[in-house]
Amino acid sequence: MTAAIQNGAAKLATFAHLIDGRSVSARDGQTIPVLAPSDGKVFAEIARGTAADVDAAVAAARASFDGAWGRMEAAERGRLLARLAQAILDNAEDLAALESRDTGKPLRQGRADIAAAARYFEFYGGACDKIHGDTLPFLAGHLALTLREAHGVTGHVIPWNYPAQMTGRSAGGALAMGNAVVVKPAEDACLTPLRIAALALEVGFPPGAFNVVTGYGEEAGAALAAHPGIDFLSFTGSPEVGALVQKAAADNHIAVTLELGGKSPQLVFADADLDAALPILVNAIVQNGGQTCSAGSRVLVEQPVYDAVVEGLQERFAGLVAAPYDADGDLGALINARQRDRVAGFIARAREDGIPALAEGRIADNAPSGGFYVAPVLFGPVPQANRLARDEVFGPVLSILPFADEADAISLANGTEYGLVAGIWTRDGARQMRLARAVRAGQVFVNCYGAGGGIELPFGGFGKSGHGREKGFEALYEFSAPKTVVVKHG
Ligand code: NAD
Repeated sequence: MTAAIQNGAAKLATFAHLIDGRSVSARDGQTIPVLAPSDGKVFAEIARGTAADVDAAVAAARASFDGAWGRMEAAERGRLLARLAQAILDNAEDLAALESRDTGKPLRQGRADIAAAARYFEFYGGACDKIHGDTLPFLAGHLALTLREAHGVTGHVIPWNYPAQMTGRSAGGALAMGNAVVVKPAEDACLTPLRIAALALEVGFPPGAFNVVTGYGEEAGAALAAHPGIDFLSFTGSPEVGALVQKAAADNHIAVTLELGGKSPQLVFADADLDAALPILVNAIVQNGGQTCSAGSRVLVEQPVYDAVVEGLQERFAGLVAAPYDADGDLGALINARQRDRVAGFIARAREDGIPALAEGRIADNAPSGGFYVAPVLFGPVPQANRLARDEVFGPVLSILPFADEADAISLANGTEYGLVAGIWTRDGARQMRLARAVRAGQVFVNCYGAGGGIELPFGGFGKSGHGREKGFEALYEFSAPKTVVVKHG
């Protein structure tokens, strides 16, 4: 699916759209250069999709839904998804290298992401023939039942932070219910979604069931979100663009799931097992360079252990190293120069605001100067009113805030516009339950934390974190709708 083409003096791998089972260039022949975040150099190019390419993909998906894919038995769909999972695993090392090169993430993380992508298709493959309707108690002489039906053609606009995983999560669930999908990955990271869709063809998916159109958000993304031919839209990305696509979808009267950002808190009480908590607190913000919607970006600490937690975090932060993807450091480069500058802006403003930088990691000596690296920083105490305590940085920046008691902790935890994930660290069982209820978040972890993890676990947010749920069986209800049938038999 890649071809070497002549581009000036250098030969670049070109990744075309995958539409109707074929690898096709943009209608107007335009391309977008693909940069490796680790060194900032162009190493490939993708098709710059426009409305015409989106039209073709939606038409192909519709034909497949009305044809071979839509008519396929659920069990057979399940087998195909399972075969795709295996094909991803069979190609795991190549896919991990591609994912890491394309996004800058350490190879270790690339490997974990590919394993997770495979697991999504495996999980949803197994679920295909296990979602069904009900029979309903109704009037005498009538049989009432529900059929659970696919929407038809679903659009999936996904971000650059976990392209392979997001493809499995979003497209996997929709395909399981029998929808034909059009995926629009982020312009900065498209390569593994294209490769996964190509593997789907290889294992026997009918043409048109699984399409990928690449391009800029304002062009291909906006065209997909506003397309009258899609029946449902799954969007993962920023709150600002989420609002735009929801408005576009409203004009077509279709439902939308929005998986947006977060400012997820981890609450550490004085009775917590700090040895268990500390490495997880660090990993929850450093994983993927902090570019994780569910990153644990705020640590709220009960005053008696504040100094001990700060000390433990300082020690760990001081040893963190940002390195090229193939050096497999604690974190890699951020996705692009804009993201690096945005994160650097947050760090500079926090310093200007007089917030103490308690510890800093470093950038590896051998990191190419053209790469988009940011050394991790630990700030604290961060005043609740400061933007560092409220806004999503989407980088390796951790804020620590002290709290006095449980009520104070809840007020701080719920004190942002987001509500995606929370972590609670305490040995007190009753407090675990109270806090799990009181914290406004789509997922709550007690004495553990899953930044982005858990294929089986429904995931989604409140407020500026979005609405609707992906992952687990819950996603399958989003990607389908019940149809009620009533038969009068007398
Ligand atoms: P983004 O909103 O800029 O882009 C996301 C996708 O939307 C990309 O494919 C992009 O091309 C597309 N897009 C951009 N403008 C568009 C438009 N006008 N119309 C239609 N599509 C458009 O987000 P990003 O910078 O790629 O990702 C970072 C954000 O995503 C963060 O806020 C992060 O928290 C969030 N995110 C959320 C989750 C989750 O599951 N809740 C997961 C990953 C990332």
